Amino acid sequence: VKTIGVLTSGGDAPGMNAAIRAVVRTAIANGVRVMGIKRGYAGLLEEDIEEMDTLSVSNIIQLGGTILYTARCKEFREKEYQEKAAEICRKHGIDGIVVIGGDGSFQGASKLAALGINTVGVPGTIDLDIACTEYTIGFDTAINTAMEAMDKLRDTSESHERCSIVEVMGRTAGHIALWTGIASGAEYILTTEEYDGNIQKIIEKIQQRHKIGKKNHVIVNAEGVGNSFEMAKMIEEATGVETRATVLGHIQRGGNPTCKDRVYASAMGAKAVELLCDGKTNRVVGYTNGEFVDYDIQAALDMEKGLDPYLFHITKKLTTY
Ligand code: ATP
Repeated sequence: VKTIGVLTSGGDAPGMNAAIRAVVRTAIANGVRVMGIKRGYAGLLEEDIEEMDTLSVSNIIQLGGTILYTARCKEFREKEYQEKAAEICRKHGIDGIVVIGGDGSFQGASKLAALGINTVGVPGTIDLDIACTEYTIGFDTAINTAMEAMDKLRDTSESHERCSIVEVMGRTAGHIALWTGIASGAEYILTTEEYDGNIQKIIEKIQQRHKIGKKNHVIVNAEGVGNSFEMAKMIEEATGVETRATVLGHIQRGGNPTCKDRVYASAMGAKAVELLCDGKTNRVVGYTNGEFVDYDIQAALDMEKGLDPYLFHITKKLTTY
């Protein structure tokens, strides 16, 4: 490849800037030009493309968000627009693209690969819900942000002898809930994968625990297990324990990336460029069994992963539920 494009797509995640920086610097070190494509596939279709150099990624490794901006682009699901995008790449001399994003973004990368543009995906999402990899950019920062928020909520919940429900992000995946629930010593961790919707069981446990002197309870809800505010109301009405719900929301997507997110994102960005320079296409970078690896995009999209079974197993002993 002579010219590589780089874009971020889907939800943003802390560490994306570290990956962009690694793409730019590794490419330049290999004698390859780099074009920054703004706002994912939307910016590609609008030809919002600018050449990047080593200086354009100075001082960004520590920043949350993405300097290239990100977007969701409905049109790009259609063949007509994918062909237009491939044509735009050719016009700008872009013969390889690094796509930093989630499963949806990889689908798009695969479509571009089929149209002759070499593509490599880098997993960027706070949700950890990409099956081919044990690590995704942003997860580590997000769980640390959520854990700190939970520690703070626990203080006030304890002082007021309350029950606190904390809803974390993750869409349909419970990884953030599982990790932060364990790390914050939550009494209950409810994930879409494992929670059966039986609120009565939780109410009974709270009542039992209240009788033996446990006055403060923390419930971590994964996004998607139900309405946390309604759940709080039901628990308060049934138990008489004041119950408040807090939805952490987008603060989990921001902030300076942790050391792990900066280092792993750097490794993945560099690996993506090395793959393109080796003539590979339609690949996605992953981290498996202690190594940075790569997979065929379709094979990666066909993989499945659930919650870490051992972590889930220990929660049965460490939590009340
Ligand atoms: P996140 O997990 O953070 O949501 P994501 O990459 O999965 O990230 P999506 O919104 O699913 O986020 O996808 C991002 C973009 O990728 C879409 O807006 C669209 O432009 C493109 N995309 C998604 N699915 C397809 C598809 N089947 N074919 C072509 N392009 C797609």
